[in-house]
Amino acid sequence: MNTFSIAIHGGAGTLVKGMMTPELEAQYKLALQRALDTGYALLKGGKTAVEAVEETVKVLEDSPLFNAGKGSVFTATETHEMDASIMDGKTLNAGGVSLITGIKNPVSLARDVMEKSEHVFLAGEGAMQFAKELNYKLEDATYFYDELRHKQWLEIKDTDSFQLDHAKKKDSKFGTVGAVACDQDGNIAAATSTGGMTNKKWGRVGDSPMIGAGNYANNKTCAISCTGSGEFFIRGVVAYDVACLIEHKNMSLQDASNEVIHKRILEIGGDGGLIAVDTKGNIAMPFNTEGMYRGQKSSNGIDEVSIYK
Ligand code: ASP
Repeated sequence: MNTFSIAIHGGAGTLVKGMMTPELEAQYKLALQRALDTGYALLKGGKTAVEAVEETVKVLEDSPLFNAGKGSVFTATETHEMDASIMDGKTLNAGGVSLITGIKNPVSLARDVMEKSEHVFLAGEGAMQFAKELNYKLEDATYFYDELRHKQWLEIKDTDSFQLDHAKKKDSKFGTVGAVACDQDGNIAAATSTGGMTNKKWGRVGDSPMIGAGNYANNKTCAISCTGSGEFFIRGVVAYDVACLIEHKNMSLQDASNEVIHKRILEIGGDGGLIAVDTKGNIAMPFNTEGMYRGQKSSNGIDEVSIYK
């Protein structure tokens, strides 16, 4: 049997160390562990990597602690616009959605795009129409309301600024979520979900739903989920870049991930991190920010969640 493993992130925009209380830290770690255990149990039960990353991301989307699903940040018009994607490394099938509202689990809609449509990427009204045709139940705004997140928006709402979780802001506590997994058959998959940036406008879309930028999976190389300054991750085609270094330069998963996060993305001005897995179940989780909510669990005995370096 192949070594099976799962890695998760809850964003690279952690609270700066001085602001993290032991209680909050415990809450974050508990939420991360719950997600990790969910995915691991599925892999252990013989489910596919695709199944595992979807269910794991759903657990993170349902937590108000992270900037995805329930915990999504506010846009400039006080709404929520969410983005998500998923990719199957065995088939190279992929699905992405952006600018969707009212959907409890955007990652599931992304999977439905992958499996129930002829397309890869649906956005805005069209994506909502697709959800409606599949009888998705829509949550109202109160489901997504979080007092802290609203306060964060009120602070910048009439300005031109938008707030990335990764900005060096004292209370930047929210983060995009993602999962990558390798199953018992050695197939890999990646999923990513986000509420984007606080006070975003004009239909801004980040890297998270874009295949190759914030999310990628290919059994030939690796499965990747990113978190960071989306505009830079798009320009750097980060997730695919890691795969290219492995495929064309013969680099290890760890070296390729480090090269992109500690060198290439920094050179163009981006910050953030990624989680990566290969078909042998190896995991890499580099980040160039102060912390990244993250966890990894593997059939070879690794089981840990961490926040800072
Ligand atoms: N990459 C996400 C975006 O730009 C943000 C994040 O990772 O927190 O939408």
